[in-house]
Amino acid sequence: MNAVRIHAHGGIDRLRYEAAEDPQLTSADDAIVKLHAASVNPMDICIRHGLHGMEVDFPHILGSDGAGTVVATGARVRNVQSGAPVCLYPASGCGDCDLCVTDREYMCARLRLLGQRQQGTYAEYVRVPARNCFPIPAELSFEEAAALPFVYITVWRMLITNAQLKPGESVLIRGIGGGVVTAALQLAGYLGTHTLVTAGSDEELLLAKNLGAEHAIDDRCADFSQEVRNLTGKRGVDVVVDCVGGDGWSKSLASLAKGGRLVTCGATAGAKPQTDVRRIFWNDLKIFGSTLGTREEFGHVLSFMKSSHTKPKIDQVFRLKDAAKAHQRMAQGKQFGKIILRVDG
Ligand SMILES: [Zn+2]
Repeated sequence: MNAVRIHAHGGIDRLRYEAAEDPQLTSADDAIVKLHAASVNPMDICIRHGLHGMEVDFPHILGSDGAGTVVATGARVRNVQSGAPVCLYPASGCGDCDLCVTDREYMCARLRLLGQRQQGTYAEYVRVPARNCFPIPAELSFEEAAALPFVYITVWRMLITNAQLKPGESVLIRGIGGGVVTAALQLAGYLGTHTLVTAGSDEELLLAKNLGAEHAIDDRCADFSQEVRNLTGKRGVDVVVDCVGGDGWSKSLASLAKGGRLVTCGATAGAKPQTDVRRIFWNDLKIFGSTLGTREEFGHVLSFMKSSHTKPKIDQVFRLKDAAKAHQRMAQGKQFGKIILRVDG
């Protein structure tokens, strides 16, 4: 098969589109999926660079998200058959620890993510545990299905499971543009919440409005929390989605109403911001961290897509062999929605 592999950590020039060995069934519980689409996540860039101790065995195939067709299954597989269109839950744990046996494999100490500790989806075929194959809602294309797993599971966990966002509440989403924040904006809008976003350019401000944001706040202003107070009658918002961190973190906390909830799944502008702890206990604030989520939450995401006729926001689609261009696009940070790799065609 053809795949995009790295033979060493480094820059975009490390991505090589080349022939690789076809994956084989090695367990009676596995499936082989012929991929039609994959999507690019910021973690792919971290793994390519070798950041955060994300070492891999070379040559390594990147990619945590994928959608395609099942072409082979092990003897014990019952949940999918050859020919089924599926998208992939990206995490596999040890299967034995207390986290794994309670459907929280994504927190397992021996976690293996597609594209991290196992070969990923920038390829024509991938081997996965069959129970990680989920049927694709009929309304979604393979490209749209490949946009879902990593980002939408995380956003579902942040907003629904952890923040328990409700209709009529208000939510501020920081730094509109990437896959997580556009998904959060979509989901919050669907729930009937008042949505405020911050954006760093005139183009992003306009795009945020077009995607349903009630108020788009210019991130270049001195203190967006003041603007949030102005827009909410000094009350503040019920929920903040802050996957940016950095200097704005304290302003995110200052944007919350009493009893408000902050959810985070990233810190692109800095992981060690100053925090006034008094603001947290005086105002009864709650802070939730999320990375990925459970299979059950992935099931909820797919069910929601089907019943709401919602489709993920896609920024651009690149061919697999042009993965370097896709990484370039992500590195520029100007995307609005998910960056997709089309594996065939
Ligand atoms: Zn485990």
